[in-house]
Amino acid sequence: MDVIFFGAPGAGKGTQAQILRKQYGYRQVSTGDLLREEREKATELGKAAEPYIQRGALVPDDLIVEMVKKNLPPAGSGVIFDGFPRTVAQAEALDHLLQAAGRGLPHAIYFYVPRTTLEERLLGRWTNPRTGRVYHERFNPPKRTAVDDDDGGPLIQREDDTPAIVHHRLDVFEKQTMPLIAYYNDSRSRRYLKIDASRPIGTVTAELLHALEATSSPMRTP
Ligand code: ADP
Ligand code: ADP
Repeated sequence: MDVIFFGAPGAGKGTQAQILRKQYGYRQVSTGDLLREEREKATELGKAAEPYIQRGALVPDDLIVEMVKKNLPPAGSGVIFDGFPRTVAQAEALDHLLQAAGRGLPHAIYFYVPRTTLEERLLGRWTNPRTGRVYHERFNPPKRTAVDDDDGGPLIQREDDTPAIVHHRLDVFEKQTMPLIAYYNDSRSRRYLKIDASRPIGTVTAELLHALEATSSPMRTP
C-alpha cells in the first residue's frame, strides 16, 4: 500500500518517515530530499528548482512529477511519499501514475500542527545535509550540538528555515496544499486520515504504525 504524508512544513513528516524507514522497513520518497540532492549535483533539474526553493515557493508541478516518476520504487510493501503531493495537480498525477502501474490509489495522512508550533519547530531545526536526518535543538537534540549522531559530521540550519521564508512557506502551504484535504477526504474513497502531529514524536509514530497496519482496509478520520 502506498501512503502519502502531507502537512505543513515542520509538521514532522520527514522525522516520522525516517523512523518508519529505519526501524520498520518502509520505503520513503521525499521530494524535498531528492531536490536537495539534485541541487547538490548541479543537475539541470537542480538548477531549475533552486530559485523556487530559495524563496520558499513550490517547484513547478511538471518538474516534480517527472522527478517522482524517475524515483518511484517498485510496487511492494509500504512506500511513504513524504512532502509529495503538495498541490491538487500533483495528487491527480500521482493517482494516474499509480493506477497506470497497476497499483491501488494511495492513502493520505494529514499531519495537523498549529502554526505557532510549526514556526518554533522550523526555526530550531538542524539537518544532516548528507542523509536528510533532522533534529531539533530543544525537542529532539543531537548528543553533541551541531554534530550528527550517526555519521559524526556537521549539522546545518537550512537556508529556507529563516523567519521570513518560513512565514512565506506556511502561507504557501495554506493556499496551495490545504486543498488536498478536500481532495482526499472524499467520503466515497475513504482514504484520508487526520492525525494530531503536535504530540511527542513517539506518540505520533505509534499512531502512524497503527494506521499503516490498517491501510489494507479503509481508514477513518477520528
Ligand atoms: P517536515 O518534514 O514535516 O517539514 P520535520 O520532520 O523536518 O518536518 O520536523 C521539523 C522540526 O520539528 C525538526 O526540527 C524536528 O526535529 C522537529 N519535530 C518533528 N516532530 C516533532 C514532534 N512530534 N515534536 C516536537 N518536535 C518535532
Ligand atoms: P518542508 O520541511 O518545508 O516540508 P521540504 O524539504 O519538503 O520542506 O521541501 C523544501 C522545498 O522543496 C519546498 O519549500 C519547495 O520549494 C520544494 N519542494 C519539495 N517538495 C515539493 C513538491 N512536492 N512540490 C513542489 N515543491 C516542492
